[in-house]
Amino acid sequence: MDIVFHPRFMDHRQYAGHPERAERLSVVLGSLARSELDPPMHEPKPVDEDLLLKVHHKDHLRDLENTGEGYYDPDTYMTGDTLAIARLAAGAGSLAVDVATENSAAFALVRPPGHHAGTMFGGGFCYLNNVAVAAERALESSKRVAIIDLDVHHGNGTADIFRSREDVLYISTHQYGIFPGTGHIKEVGTGVGEGYTINVPLPAGTGDKTFMYGMDRLILPILEKYDPSFVLVSIGVDAHYADQLANMGLTSEGYMALVQRLHDFARGGSRGIAYFLEGGYDLGALSEVVGNIIAIDEERSVPMRLNEGYDNGVGRRIVDQAVGIHSIMWDI
Ligand SMILES: [Zn+2]
Repeated sequence: MDIVFHPRFMDHRQYAGHPERAERLSVVLGSLARSELDPPMHEPKPVDEDLLLKVHHKDHLRDLENTGEGYYDPDTYMTGDTLAIARLAAGAGSLAVDVATENSAAFALVRPPGHHAGTMFGGGFCYLNNVAVAAERALESSKRVAIIDLDVHHGNGTADIFRSREDVLYISTHQYGIFPGTGHIKEVGTGVGEGYTINVPLPAGTGDKTFMYGMDRLILPILEKYDPSFVLVSIGVDAHYADQLANMGLTSEGYMALVQRLHDFARGGSRGIAYFLEGGYDLGALSEVVGNIIAIDEERSVPMRLNEGYDNGVGRRIVDQAVGIHSIMWDI
């Protein structure tokens, strides 16, 4: 799989001790090198301004510029470099779609992440929405795009940008009750977008079995019906049991099983697929999961060791409830 990466992503700094740090990318690059994987690399340019304005209101961009250096929110810091690097990460969103169109798959290995940035707001370590830029880029040549958000946090920014759209399907699995507090099971989109937002807010302790049940019972059946020409995956590795920011039980193998299903869905239907790094703060889990996604079509892989996860089973009820809410419209 081709990688979209810029060395400037390593220069992005939050305040000292922040979990969203440059090592998140260097461990992935290190594990690829150790496994003798040498994927083609593409360097993005800053995002095209017209494309960016399809995703964010100009007031949000002005707000970021005016913040200069300081706290954007209590968890999200800006230095004089932040906005320039965020523009490169958003540019990586667009380039990943171009690369995936040509080669069928791409991974945008980016910092800062993007899925908490909405039309008029940033926050939660995010400034510009990389995957939303990618969706708009994909829509230049596709009728329908699906975004699957596997980060443990609800992608409130992505949901905000596409809530009233039927040409972008947004599906999110996330831990309920943690940041940002949105993504209720009954939030299904508005106007013509009603039914094109699917939230699966899972309780703490949900693991491999329940996530796979949700994939097979809800996510894949809806994807089959929606029939997108492009699949974009917001991949956060913070639903991993080793991650300290949340309380889910996914293993590295569980993550890969979920990703393999999405990958097979895309490839089976000759659809493009592109992955976008969002969160994930345990360096071991990140390098294993992201490394193996990048290696998914290769004969070599990255060794996986973090497989002692757990599943308390309580999330199954939520999957069934989501199926109940969406079954009529999607005939699943
Ligand atoms: Zn997250």
